[in-house]
Amino acid sequence: MTEPFLPFSKPTIDEATIAAVSDVLRSGWITSGPKVQAFEAQLSEYFGGRPVRTFNSGTCTMEIALRVAGIGPGDEVITTPISWVATANVIIEVGATPVFADIDPVTRNIDLDKVEAAITARTKAIIPVYLAGLPVDMDRLYAIARKHGLRVIEDAAQALGSSWNGQRIGAIGDFVSFSFQANKNITTSEGGCLVLNDADEARLAEKYRLQGVTRSGFDGIDVDVLGGKFNMTDIAATIGLGQFAHLEAITAKRRNLAKHYFATFGTEFEAQYGAQLPVPDFANSNWHMFQIVLPERITRAEFMEKMLQRNIGIGYHYPPIHLFKLYLERGFKKGMFPISEHVGRQIVTLPMFSVMTEQDVERAVAAVKAVLQQ
Ligand SMILES: *Cc1c(COP(=O)(O)O)cnc(C)c1O
Repeated sequence: MTEPFLPFSKPTIDEATIAAVSDVLRSGWITSGPKVQAFEAQLSEYFGGRPVRTFNSGTCTMEIALRVAGIGPGDEVITTPISWVATANVIIEVGATPVFADIDPVTRNIDLDKVEAAITARTKAIIPVYLAGLPVDMDRLYAIARKHGLRVIEDAAQALGSSWNGQRIGAIGDFVSFSFQANKNITTSEGGCLVLNDADEARLAEKYRLQGVTRSGFDGIDVDVLGGKFNMTDIAATIGLGQFAHLEAITAKRRNLAKHYFATFGTEFEAQYGAQLPVPDFANSNWHMFQIVLPERITRAEFMEKMLQRNIGIGYHYPPIHLFKLYLERGFKKGMFPISEHVGRQIVTLPMFSVMTEQDVERAVAAVKAVLQQ
């Protein structure tokens, strides 16, 4: 008897949200309007009153943060090789130069010692990524930024609901960028939001969001910066409002599932199977993903195939960015960031989503053990 397919991620949209989206579709106002404003207001309140603007992806959210920070040609921005390629692409997109710093093998986040070592006279910003929702050491990050006069654009795409020593990610820090893409802890189908520092930055972000336009009076319109078309729709914002109401429950559920993963793997798992579990952090991380690093004796492709034979979906987050053709053409080479290359080769994402059950966790763990035992 085959058990049903267990995906590694799955969005859950409740009926009230589906009904609210129908209402928007019937309302005659389907682009950016009152729902976007309401969503931004709720997010701002959640982030301690800081200004928040929404966009149509987490990618353009980071790009706009870089533009608001005034980063462009001639500037270097330090980031991690282990992220979705968007994190580095936006640096190139604004004309700046991506500089990578290798990761910490335990947290799988950017190694802050290596960030400091990579700083030059041209460095303008750091983009840390909170992989799977686990933040970096925020005190250390901002100490480095202050010491060297750098801006920080936090790629917190995966970290909504995460915190640092009791403070919400987004409620502290410089620019903080989130994604609402379908696989994230809460979704707008596609979308993102940026937490900014003040009203001037928020106004500039609004201009970059919509063709650089400033409006005044009934018919006043002017354009003084080159903006694009990055606004969120009221349809998406309505999904976001419906999802946002469940954020705390979702985070709590994920933390419990993560705890159950650890309990089911058992304390001997790493020693017995040669695989590496994530950091067992149940205070700061929102458990966006539960990732393990496989032993070198099995290839990831073989592992994924054998898990799929057991009807379990496995994700892959992420291939090291510097080894993509575009980045090799820009001078990056194999061997430059050995920890990222090892983790990037062997990391897998196990099933984790808010309506998953403890039985699902047990099924996934039993399958991992069976596949690694072969
Ligand atoms: C999802 C994600 C992005 C991109 O967000 P989109 O909304 O898909 O554009 C960037 N960085 C990280 C770490 C992500 O997980």
